[in-house]
Amino acid sequence: MIEIVPIPAFEDNYIWLIRHGASAIVVDPGDAVPAADYLRHHRLSLVAILLTHHHRDHTGGAAELHRLFSAPVYGPRREAIASITHPVGESDVIDFPSLGIAFQVLDVPGHTAGHIAYYGINTLFCGDALFACGCGRLFEGSAQQMHASLAKFSALPDDTKVCCAHEYTLENIHFAKLVEPGNAALLEREHRDRATRSQGRPTLPSSIGLEKLTNPFLRCGEPAVIAAASRFAGHPLVPPVDVFAAIRQWRDQV
Ligand code: ZN
Ligand code: FE
Repeated sequence: MIEIVPIPAFEDNYIWLIRHGASAIVVDPGDAVPAADYLRHHRLSLVAILLTHHHRDHTGGAAELHRLFSAPVYGPRREAIASITHPVGESDVIDFPSLGIAFQVLDVPGHTAGHIAYYGINTLFCGDALFACGCGRLFEGSAQQMHASLAKFSALPDDTKVCCAHEYTLENIHFAKLVEPGNAALLEREHRDRATRSQGRPTLPSSIGLEKLTNPFLRCGEPAVIAAASRFAGHPLVPPVDVFAAIRQWRDQV
């Protein structure tokens, strides 16, 4: 059985660990210590390290884990990350026979210019591109690029598990309610995720289906979202990219 485990790191990061039998893969180990502790405690052998983008809170532990476990480091071809041994990009497939797992690589620029995501075992590892009820800030890419990246995620099956790299869900829900105060699925989600957080548990993984119902950044064609974004901008906006750009800008101010 394949298990997917969020290992908390720093303030609000998750290092995702995928295990099958005695083999494991880690995604975005910003810190080597909690990942190495988990691997040793459970006597797992590390088969690979996957990186989504160059930010330190995602890459900081990769070199040390590579040194400790001599596992290959996969990461975005279009970003300069010293620890990468296997650069990958759009439509590459990486196969891990010892876990019986293969991942397809998606180019999802926007948060950073070369950001990638990994899709396989009905699960998406999306780094800082997509968050529960939100999306990454546009540090290096355009609204157009990020919107196209999010459209790739929307096209995945509704039951795809979404493993984001940060626990930002409640803050994002707060914003999503400003955009769509009348979204019943969103209010229901808030209720559920508040209860989860009050028990100290992660709100992740989410699912593509739930994001399509509640995440304003995936709902830029919805009349209520178009209307709210247009109110924010002070003039009528054309969906979807201008609507996306406006709510991303709005989010940055909240
Ligand atoms: Zn980042
Ligand atoms: Fe991050």
